[in-house]
Amino acid sequence: MIFKVDTHSHTLASGHAYNTMREMAEAAAAKGLQALAITEHAPEMPGTCGLFYFQNLDVVPREMCGIRLLLGAEVNIMDPDGNIDLPEKTCRDLDIVVASIHPPCYGLGHTAEENTRAYVETMKKPYVNIIGHPDDGRFPFDYEVLVKTAKETHTLLELNNSSLRPQSSRKGTRENMLTMLDLCRQYEVPVTTGSDAHVYADAGNFSRVEEVLKYCAFPEELVVTTDPEKLLPFLNLYKSL
Ligand SMILES: [Zn+2]
Ligand SMILES: [Zn+2]
Repeated sequence: MIFKVDTHSHTLASGHAYNTMREMAEAAAAKGLQALAITEHAPEMPGTCGLFYFQNLDVVPREMCGIRLLLGAEVNIMDPDGNIDLPEKTCRDLDIVVASIHPPCYGLGHTAEENTRAYVETMKKPYVNIIGHPDDGRFPFDYEVLVKTAKETHTLLELNNSSLRPQSSRKGTRENMLTMLDLCRQYEVPVTTGSDAHVYADAGNFSRVEEVLKYCAFPEELVVTTDPEKLLPFLNLYKSL
């Protein structure tokens, strides 16, 4: 499987990442990617950029170092009602919106029922395109409901390469991804791949995700990042064309 797009990465603007947009684009291009999404942490994440950062992204050219840039956000799912930390209008104007659960914003200790509801309500939002790292055993939820709702709402589920790092704080990620992929195959629900790179060397790095996809012989036609044309219909960018 040859990946042509990375739908999740961060730059210096996120506060705990280490490179510029240009450095990330250059690294992604060197790996042979055709498009890179830069999805900074939304304002409730400690140390990240504020609302105006996201509202001013139209000044940035969408082509850099010979590849296409998709500029957006990784919004925080704040509670079991699926509230997120950017206004709907701001999300609409972004190229791509990933929504994820992070302990500093959502907290630990919600029930599986609450976590499932958080994902379902988030996916119903019209400008949420991707659920980021739905693989973290610290937030148990119902995978069958997640996968079926993804299909109904035209939302992509992410395979996050950083979740599979041995040092990752997320729990049971490989096993959870395999559970999700089994259901995605059964219900024919596409997935996306995100490096979640916080440093240039990881841009477009899918080595760990690739191993999991191979292990379960997941069908390539359900992986949207092997061709930008497969991904675009799921994004805000496409909606505005
Ligand atoms: Zn995240
Ligand atoms: Zn991230």
